[in-house]
Amino acid sequence: MTAANMMFIDPHIHMTSRTTDDYTRMRRAGIVAVIEPSFWLGQPRTEVGSYKDYFSSLLGWERFRASQFGIKHFCTIGLNSKEANNEALAEQVMEILPLFVLKEGVVGVGEIGYDDQTAAEDKYYRLQLDLAKEVGLPVQIHTPHRDKKAGTIRSMEVAMEHSVKPHMVIVDHNNEETVRDTLERGFWAAFTIYPNSKMGNERMVEIVKQYGTERIIVNSSADWGVSDPLAVPKTASLMLERGIPAEDVHKVCYQNALDAFGQSGQMNESDWLQPASVDQRGKFLDNSVLRGGQTPVVGEIEVDKELEDNIVK
Ligand SMILES: [Zn+2]
Repeated sequence: MTAANMMFIDPHIHMTSRTTDDYTRMRRAGIVAVIEPSFWLGQPRTEVGSYKDYFSSLLGWERFRASQFGIKHFCTIGLNSKEANNEALAEQVMEILPLFVLKEGVVGVGEIGYDDQTAAEDKYYRLQLDLAKEVGLPVQIHTPHRDKKAGTIRSMEVAMEHSVKPHMVIVDHNNEETVRDTLERGFWAAFTIYPNSKMGNERMVEIVKQYGTERIIVNSSADWGVSDPLAVPKTASLMLERGIPAEDVHKVCYQNALDAFGQSGQMNESDWLQPASVDQRGKFLDNSVLRGGQTPVVGEIEVDKELEDNIVK
């Protein structure tokens, strides 16, 4: 078994910020489905209308765009922790969230949680936990980059306080310091592979060797910053090379994400096992991913054997 024969899910990636080249490379590397959490855009939004349009594009245009490259697109909807600190705006966002969380393709409330662990962040995190519980959706938690360990534990304790069951919560951006706490409490432990920092590929290999595969999930969190949309297949490839059995790689780079977010009832393997073949003649609200004179791909986007070599090394 090599990574080139495997299917992958990247359960945390911000495709809105990525290019069509990324979609093509991802599909060729075996990524069949992605989950795009709602998050901030690098600068603060000033109007609730910006949220409305953003959520709508995750459910509309971006979903369509992914389909044009043979990738099934899902999303999580929520008010991110950073922007929860603008309380006047946060109040208005909370009012529109219920309109979006039950739409087709929404597999969770996310990414929510703490950034600086302020009182406002705490307030809107709790309100969104209640919303997730009410509609029966999983929760995707963004854990803080500063004061990570305490912030991660606090995120889980507050979830339990609100009677959100650990198996319904995916805790993102774990590291060596938080993984034990997350797993021991029964939560899903997701890890972000940042290029050159945080969780390097080698570190992820070590974590799987030490903690096994139960409830462990790998993602790229690729966005508008320096990041790698192929982080999941590359890490899978490295795991195989380091002697981790293929079924274990399959669990942490595919199955666990499906099991966790599949609890939404919105994510089904049949969506990509019996795929509608790619047809780039398609349009969304009269818009195509193609520009004048380009030839649409119709049929399969071929798996790229060469890429396997690229990603192993
Ligand atoms: Zn993110």
